[in-house]
Amino acid sequence: MRWKIFVEISRCSFCGFCEHACPTLNYGDFRRQYGPRGRIQAILFALRENLISPETIRGVYTCLECNACSLHCPAKINIAEIIRKFRYLVSSGSITPRPKVRKLMPIIQ
Ligand code: SF4
Ligand code: SF4
Repeated sequence: MRWKIFVEISRCSFCGFCEHACPTLNYGDFRRQYGPRGRIQAILFALRENLISPETIRGVYTCLECNACSLHCPAKINIAEIIRKFRYLVSSGSITPRPKVRKLMPIIQ
């Protein structure tokens, strides 16, 4: 699953066409991780470098999985599905956040 997510995200050109459709983008004062592009970029870092910051977790778990973003993606990337799968990897322990990040886990589970 990890590899499949990685391959899917690798098709992203980070064009940003998906951003304006996202209802959570304004949350957190337009911080990147609250929009689709920032979320999948954070997931890419998590898979490639094993870097999972508190901001990664906040971004991934504030997604509504509404899939409004994917309708505007020229590459037809299913962003909500990527986020759903990544959440599964985190909750099943396949990706282990660092201790500082783990403190957030009771809140998001
Ligand atoms: S629209 Fe698609 S290709 Fe463009 S940034 Fe969003 S996910 Fe990536
Ligand atoms: S699926 Fe998530 S990232 Fe995409 S528009 Fe909805 S809230 Fe935003």
